[in-house]
Amino acid sequence: MKTQPTLDKLNRPLKDLRISVIDRCNFRCQYCMPADVFGPDFAFLPRRELLTYEEIERLARLFVQIGVEKIRLTGGEPLLRKDLSVLIQKLSSIDGLKDIALTTNGVLLTKHAQSLKEAGLKRVNVSLDSLDDELFGEINGRNVGTKPVIDGIKAAQSAGLGVKINMVVKKGLNDTEIVPMAKFCKDNGLQLRFIEFMDVGSTNGWKMDDVVTKKEIYTLLSEHYLLESVDPDYFGEVAKRYRYQGSNVDVGFIPSVSESFCSSCTRSRLSANGQLFTCLFNGNGHDLRDFMRADATDEEIIDRIVSIWNGRTDRYSDERSAETIANRKKIEMSYIGG
Ligand code: SAM
Ligand code: SF4
Ligand code: SF4
Repeated sequence: MKTQPTLDKLNRPLKDLRISVIDRCNFRCQYCMPADVFGPDFAFLPRRELLTYEEIERLARLFVQIGVEKIRLTGGEPLLRKDLSVLIQKLSSIDGLKDIALTTNGVLLTKHAQSLKEAGLKRVNVSLDSLDDELFGEINGRNVGTKPVIDGIKAAQSAGLGVKINMVVKKGLNDTEIVPMAKFCKDNGLQLRFIEFMDVGSTNGWKMDDVVTKKEIYTLLSEHYLLESVDPDYFGEVAKRYRYQGSNVDVGFIPSVSESFCSSCTRSRLSANGQLFTCLFNGNGHDLRDFMRADATDEEIIDRIVSIWNGRTDRYSDERSAETIANRKKIEMSYIGG
């Protein structure tokens, strides 16, 4: 086990790994996989291209040896991957791994919550952008109402999983849902995290004007609730958290656009086909899958990961400008994992 942190060029330690287990999804959220781009003819990764669970486990073990403490499974929609609990069980056996979490749209959670918990999953983040069935169906591009997601949230709570709710806010689309969502989550003891709409990928038609900033949301919430600031739990915590006064329920903000947090970004991302990305906005992936399949030893794989991380200089959100927006090679969120 490595005792020294693995640092990048800006002295940021490698601590988190997000693994996209699949690039497919049963939703077509407007801000992520717009239906007109991700249509019936869209070429998703063929099965043989995906990392197997054994390959994911091996890579995860090696990442933990060089400093990763937390792993989040994501996608695409991770619950579309068959027997995800089997992967969770494998990851749970890794010495030194402190936390395993999952981000999901929640539709299949009712079916899987119990087995995920039994396999060792600790926490889920469920994405829910509106409580209004019609609006939610419009946002998710599949006309799916809120019921399966809310049922999934309840099933996760009953199974004993920690549950947080992610809400992406886009101006003119679902900003009217900010207060109802806050009320719903507060009443149900759920931590809600408002996520600023980001310019990930190149298909979601992002414009700065569409972003509802943390400040705007905070101001609106303050008209309804008394909020007190909560200290970060750990270095690199992305959410800025507040507590509803007189309760034990927190509400968080992920101000990726208006108050970027690149200086403490400790996150690496592994795509479903085994490419390592060092930033959500850096489209240059580094192959680990073919290297591994060509019989690389553990030491050789570790050397490759360490050298990639040591060379990392990414700070896209800190540098965001008209020029970077226009000229960066971007990668889709559904491929790289949110
Ligand atoms: N399908 C799962 C889900 O939706 O929870 C996991 C993958 S999704 C890419 C992960 C997270 O990224 C979700 O919470 C989603 O809302 C968020 N996301 C996707 N596109 C985004 C964007 N353009 N800006 C901000 N957040 C986004
Ligand atoms: Fe699918 Fe999640 Fe993207 Fe929505 S945000 S399209 S649920 S991957
Ligand atoms: Fe991390 Fe890149 Fe996001 Fe900055 S822009 S916080 S470096 S993922």
